[in-house]
Amino acid sequence: MPAQRLDGKAVAATMRLEIASRVAERTLAGKRAPGLAAVLVGEDPASQQYVKNKHKACQDAGLATAVHRLPATTSQAELLSLVAQLNADPSVHGILVQLPLPKHIEEAAVIRAVSPAKDVDCFHPENVGLLAAGHPRFYPCTPHGVLQLLRRNGIATAGKHVVVVGRSNIVGKPLALMLMQKPTATNPAAGDATVTVAHTRTQNLTEVCQLADILIAAAGVPAIITPEMVKPGAAVVDVGTNNVAGKWCGDMHESVWSVAGWVSPVPGGVGPMTITMLLYNTLEAAKQIDG
Ligand code: NAP
Repeated sequence: MPAQRLDGKAVAATMRLEIASRVAERTLAGKRAPGLAAVLVGEDPASQQYVKNKHKACQDAGLATAVHRLPATTSQAELLSLVAQLNADPSVHGILVQLPLPKHIEEAAVIRAVSPAKDVDCFHPENVGLLAAGHPRFYPCTPHGVLQLLRRNGIATAGKHVVVVGRSNIVGKPLALMLMQKPTATNPAAGDATVTVAHTRTQNLTEVCQLADILIAAAGVPAIITPEMVKPGAAVVDVGTNNVAGKWCGDMHESVWSVAGWVSPVPGGVGPMTITMLLYNTLEAAKQIDG
């Protein structure tokens, strides 16, 4: 029997309705609509598309949203000055600086310049530290999206062996942190799992992946996850988003569908969840800032 689908589009649609209704409650109570400011520097087509999708999702959920488009020639000082302006603007609760930035701008300096209270991507070192300590101010969007996708399909992580392929600061590392932590009142999304993290220096990747009750692929390598790597019945979450000859595909080989119990498709799996968790964090930021 082929695997069941972890339908990110469907879960994201449900969560966006939940967020929209909480936003509506706040505005009815006379509070400011949660505001997200997106900053896009340059003309990268993928970044333009990501920002467009995020902007539309915000509008649909009733969030106040603005996109600041700057030319690729913008200096680091000019970008930092815009970030400072947004930090000081009470109508802005979340700031998203779309990465990658042009090469002449130091990304780390820009990430550090965003006020931690408005850092809805959860990239600022203060927020990464809080997450690592088990006291998150925000959850990073893609890892939180993966956990919600599992949870809302009835797949528990507690006590399971989860193998994460990839250790980047955006996906693999924060996801492993969230998965291994003990849930508490202030850290409810923590996974309580046994976690193995694999990367390019991992030996016997196939054997390591075979241990997984839940296998999460975040390598950015098309078809790196093959059926023999998957324990029959395991859940496979494919974070990979690769463009091969103009077509989007994940890190998982198509034939994994015949071995796994659950599979998240690409597109339509983790992608819509990531955007949804950005809306979630903007609402969280508004609650933390405005009450
Ligand atoms: P990244 O920064 O390039 O990191 C990739 C990670 O995978 C690295 O840790 C790397 O190991 C590991 N890796 C690469 N090739 C491997 C191999 N052959 N065997 C084992 N490990 C390998 O990428 P990222 O930003 O984490 O993104 C990963 C993928 O997720 C990309 O396709 C990206 O487009 C996608 N993504 C999707 C979403 C979404 O919302 N759907 C969000 C973010 C990212 P080393 O550390 O040893 O180099």
